[in-house]
Amino acid sequence: MLNDILGEPPLDNTLNDAERVRILAKTALFAPPPAVLADGRREIVGLSREALAEALAALGEKPFRAKQIWHWIYNQGVTDFGAMSSIARPLQARLAEQFVIGRPEASAVQTSADNTRKFLFRFRDGQEAETVYIPDRKEDRGAVCISSQVGCTLSCRFCHTGTQPLARNLGPAEIVGQFMAARDSYGEWPSPAGETPRLLSTIVLMGMGEPLYNYENVATAMRIVMDGEGLGLSRRRITLSTSGVVPMMDRCGAELGVNLAVSLHAVDDALRDEIVPLNRKYPIAELIGACRRYPGSSNARRITFEYVMLRGVNDSEAEARALVRLIAGIPAKVNLIPFNPWPGSTYLPSTRQRLDRFARIVTEAGFAAPIRTPRGQDILAACGQLRTESRRARTVA
Ligand code: SAH
Ligand code: SF4
Repeated sequence: MLNDILGEPPLDNTLNDAERVRILAKTALFAPPPAVLADGRREIVGLSREALAEALAALGEKPFRAKQIWHWIYNQGVTDFGAMSSIARPLQARLAEQFVIGRPEASAVQTSADNTRKFLFRFRDGQEAETVYIPDRKEDRGAVCISSQVGCTLSCRFCHTGTQPLARNLGPAEIVGQFMAARDSYGEWPSPAGETPRLLSTIVLMGMGEPLYNYENVATAMRIVMDGEGLGLSRRRITLSTSGVVPMMDRCGAELGVNLAVSLHAVDDALRDEIVPLNRKYPIAELIGACRRYPGSSNARRITFEYVMLRGVNDSEAEARALVRLIAGIPAKVNLIPFNPWPGSTYLPSTRQRLDRFARIVTEAGFAAPIRTPRGQDILAACGQLRTESRRARTVA
């Protein structure tokens, strides 16, 4: 059972049984509600291909129907069974009796002065999470930043989401649905064939929550997104960011093989323990070990280390030098993120001079070290600024 849910233990046994039980218990406690409406209809978005085929087999339909319906939903973007013109009317009607093709409801949409667009999505049980579309400033395309949880358990000191206790995990329909609803908003259907880029051509799992604490749902969602007959984003167009859930990094690499971003933010355990409290469980040496093991990393496919620049806290030249020693030999780039303030935050962004010096040391050591321009700050859409009012629903005793 444990293995079914968490996968085989990695060979080096980094994920011991106690940890596996703990992660599993947490996952169950914060599970999303079943994707079923009050009238009994099931949400069809978010079913894996296998689950869709099974559901159709139960209706007495042949496997090719699943392929057709998949195409309508994920390639054409239809939200109405009546629009599936290759499906006969009686079957359309039966499908509509049993299923809905849903989207999270956008309860607020704000567009920043720099064209970054933030969506507040409300799910069926009223819980809300935010999604951000960040257009590239040069090219005619951009990334959709997706949330994996409502709130977060991890309380990193500099992060607004970390001040919102975890309400619950998001389900596959809700994770894929954020991307589909963002595409709706830009009229981006049908999905492009192959790798032809569209405006919304990349996914970054960098919104609210820790994706590796909701691994199963995130994995199901990403498999749907990567399916070549539907949305068709290649794994190279997906980046998952983690604050360092070491045991799950191995699994993510082996099973999904998406690009990895690691929220490092400090180069010694004393400081990282304080600002990224998960470090007390998985200290820096273990985290870097997992990065070295991450499959497929090469110069063409580098791991991104995220480093939020906090004035006077982690931005010294000595720390820049320690950083390059720490990641030596890993095909990597370092994203230097100027701290984005939020209501009640106590840190200050590093000065431009400190940013530049830090970047220069890292660059001279041979790593790309772009300083990220904050995007969507005016609408609280930049890194670490997302937060909603959702609270955990009271559990029935
Ligand atoms: N929970 C995952 C995914 C969130 S990604 C993770 O932590 O990796 C969001 C990125 O923005 C992370 O690197 C996070 O550490 C960073 N971040 C959080 N608060 C920030 C802030 N106020 N300013 C700049 N970056 C921040
Ligand atoms: Fe959670 Fe990531 Fe924010 Fe830390 S930085 S509190 S892990 S969302």
